[in-house]
Amino acid sequence: TRTPVNVTVTGAAGQIGYALLFRIASGHLLGADVPVNLRLLEITPALKAAEGVAMELDDCAFPLLRDITITDQANTAFSGTNVALLVGARPRTAGMERGDLLAANGGIFGPQGKAINDNAADDVKVLVVGNPANTNALIAQRNAPDVPAERFTAMTRLDHNRAVAQLAKKAGVTVADVKKVTIWGNHSATQYPDLFQAEIAGKAGFEAVGSDQAWVEDFFIPKVAKRGAEIIEVRGASSAASAANAALDHVHTWVNGTAAGDWTSMGIVSDGSYGVPEGIISSFPVTTKDGKFEIVQGLELSEFSRARIDASVAELVAERDEVTALGLI
Ligand code: NDP
Repeated sequence: TRTPVNVTVTGAAGQIGYALLFRIASGHLLGADVPVNLRLLEITPALKAAEGVAMELDDCAFPLLRDITITDQANTAFSGTNVALLVGARPRTAGMERGDLLAANGGIFGPQGKAINDNAADDVKVLVVGNPANTNALIAQRNAPDVPAERFTAMTRLDHNRAVAQLAKKAGVTVADVKKVTIWGNHSATQYPDLFQAEIAGKAGFEAVGSDQAWVEDFFIPKVAKRGAEIIEVRGASSAASAANAALDHVHTWVNGTAAGDWTSMGIVSDGSYGVPEGIISSFPVTTKDGKFEIVQGLELSEFSRARIDASVAELVAERDEVTALGLI
């Protein structure tokens, strides 16, 4: 029998947490043969709600779920953690400036980075879901100097999955026929969903959507980049199940590898590839194998793609400069 893997989820009593925990406990994060211990971190006022979720987890009698810890102490939550899913964040409220948002989140992700640094298992893998995810991940990473930087990642998999679904619809194929889609840059409205490197049912991505540049610019890119707002408008609440699903996909792919002939998108610490300044956390096309990832190299970027990537990266650089000025990193 395998030793259980310790999985920490922050913001565990929230909407995404509720869509996430039951699937982790039923084997969708790491595999149907991997037992897990869950460590739920919440702010003090939400501890009771987290207890309620833990009661429901008990009531599922999941064979893979070994132990649940509920705490408002980051050091406890990250003790021996192998996989940390940082979901809880300070949402932007009306009238809040970006600087206030970054400062509030710095107060969450700085201490959590330090707690990971001091308590996590040597093989810890961190995924930041809470927004602004890329910069929150950067803050956590910079507060964890003893953890290899590549263990801190930000989620762009939901954007990636949204792009795949839109392309499959447009091309009239199944999602399994859509490969090599990339989300570049920031998980924000400036992100660049790139179909020009994609392969759709064996054709070049652009050709498969009728070589329709207007569709790409006026429909596809804004559809993917603004899908979160559209869900709020139509559903009356923000996307939670699809965000949780993407978090599972992100970690599952990181641990178990990408399929041959395909890649995925992850926000990772830039090594300077594609002119993205070293050190910022930006989304790239990556392949994964044996728990490690590599940026796909050598893609030829058109002027159109280059300009879109540069714009999103400029936003990330501005966020980095702002959290630097605030003394958060
Ligand atoms: P959700 O569970 O809906 O969202 C949590 C975070 O995920 C938000 O920052 C949200 O960003 C982000 N997110 C990323 N991608 C998506 C997406 N596609 N759709 C929706 N959200 C996305 O929020 P709740 O308010 O329901 O729950 C948050 C929980 O976190 C609360 O229980 C709160 O107590 C807790 N919390 C815990 C902390 C801790 O453990 N230390 C610290 C702060 C909060 P966005 O705001 O942009 O929608």
